[in-house]
Amino acid sequence: MKLFVGKTVLVTGAQRGIGYDIAGAFAFQGASVVMTDVNGDGVQQAAASIEKETSAKTLALAADVSKYADCERVIEETLKTFKKLDILVNNAGITRDNLVLRMKEEDFQAVLDVNLKGAFLMAKAASRSMLRERGGRIINIASVVGQMGNAGQAGYSASKAGLIGLTKSLAREFAPRQVLVNAVAPGFIQTRMTDALKDETKAGLLEMIPLERFGTGADVARAVMFLAGDDSAYITGQVLAVNGGIYM
Ligand code: NAP
Repeated sequence: MKLFVGKTVLVTGAQRGIGYDIAGAFAFQGASVVMTDVNGDGVQQAAASIEKETSAKTLALAADVSKYADCERVIEETLKTFKKLDILVNNAGITRDNLVLRMKEEDFQAVLDVNLKGAFLMAKAASRSMLRERGGRIINIASVVGQMGNAGQAGYSASKAGLIGLTKSLAREFAPRQVLVNAVAPGFIQTRMTDALKDETKAGLLEMIPLERFGTGADVARAVMFLAGDDSAYITGQVLAVNGGIYM
């Protein structure tokens, strides 16, 4: 039996990488899936390929999560098309890595604007309908580096640590209306984001991972689906690490 039949799921930054895998996993489980991304053409193609593979209903929207008008439009279009929103996955994220001495102020700000403010704006836009319906799930994609820090990623790790704080505050604020808010903190997952790392950095990282492999988008998607489903009905304000044991 498919687990998410009749549910509407919205995934930001779903054109590729982990977001695409999360959107596809929900579609395979029967959900209607709204996929958004700054790259409008890319997300249209991504949604078309998921529809072809799964016959799920999809809606692809170009939207920048760091702009509130875009977030409001996404929620309006979602409600117009699918009548309700059950699950929001704040996945859109960027990196602008550099050592602090060389990190430009605008790069630090850009990372906070997308990774942290973007999740706040999407949650704010989605909350009205979820609170009215007295139910919903919000899952924020944080990162292991938000828990343990990382040299060269001051802005990125600060944004992800902030996202964990945001998750806990939203969880407390929305709990009376049965809107559950949790975070997934992936470790090093094979995507374009990690392909950009130097070979020696990757080799060094592998040595630190007890499960001796990088994660996959599917590993993250399974954790997200757990937090979106009936089996996690008494779990809110938590951070689920999907990191192969690199941080415990
Ligand atoms: P990715 O392949 O770079 O995908 C991120 C997606 O977000 C891209 O399609 C990107 O569009 C989109 N995006 C960027 N800025 C946006 C904005 N302002 N509004 C809407 N969409 C935007 O990255 P990923 O590796 O799949 O990462 C997905 C999430 O997991 C991120 O939050 C990341 O921080 C987190 N994460 C990743 C890893 C990892 O190892 N890969 C580990 C821990 C956490 P463009 O292509 O046009 O930029």
